[in-house]
Amino acid sequence: MRLLLVEDEDAIRSALDRALRRWGHEVMAAADLATAKALAAERPPDGVISDLKLPDGSGLDGVRLWGVPFILMSGFASFDDAVEALRLGCVDFLTKPVAMQTLQASIGRLGDRCRDWDLCLISLEGGGSSLIRPVPEGFDEQQIAVESLEWTHPEEAYRLFEEIGSQLEGKRERQLLAELMQALPSGRVVVNAAAGWWRAWLAGTVDWQADDGARDRRAVIADLADRIVERDGGMAVECVRTRVGS
Ligand code: CA
Repeated sequence: MRLLLVEDEDAIRSALDRALRRWGHEVMAAADLATAKALAAERPPDGVISDLKLPDGSGLDGVRLWGVPFILMSGFASFDDAVEALRLGCVDFLTKPVAMQTLQASIGRLGDRCRDWDLCLISLEGGGSSLIRPVPEGFDEQQIAVESLEWTHPEEAYRLFEEIGSQLEGKRERQLLAELMQALPSGRVVVNAAAGWWRAWLAGTVDWQADDGARDRRAVIADLADRIVERDGGMAVECVRTRVGS
């Protein structure tokens, strides 16, 4: 797996880095959230192992952003942190110091989750940005076609979707993207695509209760998805990834 390791204590980070590599993983290591975000933007990780308390924020902010299976570590954690971690789908919440044997078992569970998590994740975060993330199957290193489109009227959204939609695999994911783009009165979408997978990031705000049209669209999105998780100021939508080429 390609693992993103986020830990600000140098001694712990290098010990974990060594262990993870020894167990055959590719490791991207960061000492703070900003570095971790830059690394993840460059090469999306399969999973994340993160300290909870980082110099520039909470590990929870990172995992919320990346939407991949994760393990959190903390010297001490509040009840609220633990609840939030579980709500976000934390594989394990480990107390530091973490015994290597414990970590190895957790990494095994993380691997299982990565395999099971054959999902498309769409999350509408506080600011209304959303992420559609079909988990790569046979991840292709030969990145990436990038399209970045903006619209300022709802009518433009579908026309723009038609420009990019034909390049994207998966009927259901495509339809979800079309619905989401049209849900945003104005917005922006960035699509990265390569053989067998694609990702789209949407930014904009949605008022799902605005009118009947918005409520209907929300229902269509719910129908297309397998699961919608409501969050403060947003929601996460997941669907089982359709087969490549379907
Ligand atoms: Ca720390």
